Amino acid sequence: TFLALASLAACSSSSTNRGGSTDSTTLKKGDLIGVSMPTKADQRWNVDGANLVKDLKAAGFKTKLAYANNSTSQQSTDINNLVSAGAKAIVVASVDGTAVGPAVKQAESGGSTVIAYDRLIMNTDAVNYYVTFDLERTGILEATDIINKLDLKNGGGKAVPYNIALFAGSDDDNNAPYFFKGAWDLLKPYFESGQLVDPSGLVTKDTTDADWKKISVHAWDQSQAQKQMDAFMTKLGDKPLAAVLSPYDAISLGVMKSIQNARPDMTTATPFDSKNPQNKSAWPIITGQDGMDIAITNIHFGAQDETVFKDVSLLAKQTTSILTDLTKGDKPKSVDAPMNNGKKQVPTWLLKSTDIVLKPTGDQQDPSYIPKTGFITDAQ
Ligand code: BGC
Repeated sequence: TFLALASLAACSSSSTNRGGSTDSTTLKKGDLIGVSMPTKADQRWNVDGANLVKDLKAAGFKTKLAYANNSTSQQSTDINNLVSAGAKAIVVASVDGTAVGPAVKQAESGGSTVIAYDRLIMNTDAVNYYVTFDLERTGILEATDIINKLDLKNGGGKAVPYNIALFAGSDDDNNAPYFFKGAWDLLKPYFESGQLVDPSGLVTKDTTDADWKKISVHAWDQSQAQKQMDAFMTKLGDKPLAAVLSPYDAISLGVMKSIQNARPDMTTATPFDSKNPQNKSAWPIITGQDGMDIAITNIHFGAQDETVFKDVSLLAKQTTSILTDLTKGDKPKSVDAPMNNGKKQVPTWLLKSTDIVLKPTGDQQDPSYIPKTGFITDAQ
């Protein structure tokens, strides 16, 4: 991040300031829209990029799409290049919401409209619109699944506390604390009542929403998640594990790999059952987000319990509709509350996610069907 900031500082400042473009009415059909996505390594951003290109073209715009390989300096270069190529608006899903600030500032100063896509761009006035999903809802859906499956409302974990591992998203992503808040506000009461316990000690009943960085997984990285889970498994020892709060499907994969290595006994067992909580070899309830193909497969096999599915085609449609409004001289309006990025209230659109949950029927009740060799931890 430091290097990226230094290189940005060195290359900014040459363009003329046309005073920003918050209500740009100068956008026209046929204009070039630059799309800057964070990485191809994660399934969803490939889908997002393709959707944006398709919808923007259908709406009469030209497009240019860049992927930053999860590098903050590459993303700044991408944005500079898109603007140099003539982009009148840029749509940015940031690698690091703060580090990208100077590059979008330069774009906006040159007259381009800036749309923060899925992830808010922080601490700059150079962001005109923000489209995302209701962020806390991700955590709410994940925690609700855990609460239901562990039967916590009916006293699950009262006799012997249930062990749980908790993860938060990347420390440089403004979405991550919202995901955690949504989940933690629901799970915290069960830490207070003693029904849930984190044997690693990272999360306790005194943990607050603001403590999410203690359990964050930098860059949402699968192998980093695996390492953090390895440390958890050491603390867990041979005790049962009831659940893992994971905010993202690739983090869930790292978690599963770690469990597979540390506790092979669990991979041939039945899922955690609140009627038989002493079963040390039960496979935990594991959550996720994005509805990655691999997660859907693992849900089918019973290895992952749920994933929060975001229909990202809606985000591309919303983005296209904002840009189309601008060509008509209309001011895009949202019914949702604006979000504060540390510098300004950014007009925000919040879309709705759904969840895909393991159905407690059929195959799932057949113990021979549970993880065994059936689940996958490497993206194909
Ligand atoms: C997105 C999630 C995604 C995560 C990792 C977040 O900013 O909102 O949908 O799972 O990044 O890519």
